[in-house]
Amino acid sequence: MRVLLVEDDPLLADALRIALSQSAHQVDVVGDGELADQALRDASYDLTVLDIGLPKMNGRDVLRRLRQSNAGTPVLVLSALERIEDRVDLLNLGADDFLQKPFHLSELDARVKALLRRAHRHAKNELEFGRIKLDIDARRCFVDQSAMDLTAREFAVVELLLLRAGRVVTRSQILDLLYGWEDNQGTNTVEVLIYRLRKKLDFSGWNLKTIRGMGYLLESSRG
Ligand code: CA
Repeated sequence: MRVLLVEDDPLLADALRIALSQSAHQVDVVGDGELADQALRDASYDLTVLDIGLPKMNGRDVLRRLRQSNAGTPVLVLSALERIEDRVDLLNLGADDFLQKPFHLSELDARVKALLRRAHRHAKNELEFGRIKLDIDARRCFVDQSAMDLTAREFAVVELLLLRAGRVVTRSQILDLLYGWEDNQGTNTVEVLIYRLRKKLDFSGWNLKTIRGMGYLLESSRG
């Protein structure tokens, strides 16, 4: 795993480099936007941690140029920007996740691990679990060779369950995932959605358990 860290504050950069070294084999550190742009053209990274307020070229422009070049490296943006519009803007430009300064290193660590895991599993853009197969790019779900009729929300939840197979997915993680969909944010949204998913997918033999007071667990024995 190779990570590019772009941060102009030397003290913070040093602390982040040490933290990132726990998840990555190699951490390259650059302190301005032009060097970041150059590094991203010269090498391929499994993850880029990108500050927005940077000398020479700001992080927003670095991100835009990176996505224009079609590079697939996941980008975790660090920023003191507080407005939701700025955050949405960065996600629209192609950021994969966002961490608002100041943050705890433990939160950085968790997000970095999640992004690296996702990048790794999505390398072939398919997720398989027993007889279930997800085509991540096409947002389609198959059991054996038959296409399943899932809504976008249902697909997103199945993707999360499969990614976390063998571990509990909490109700609040599912609610976070569904937050972008404005409609139908009732308190039983999660239960209704899981009920519908069970009706559609239980025949595949997946073992989706309800963990009382916590959430759901897809038993990984069949995966
Ligand atoms: Ca900065």
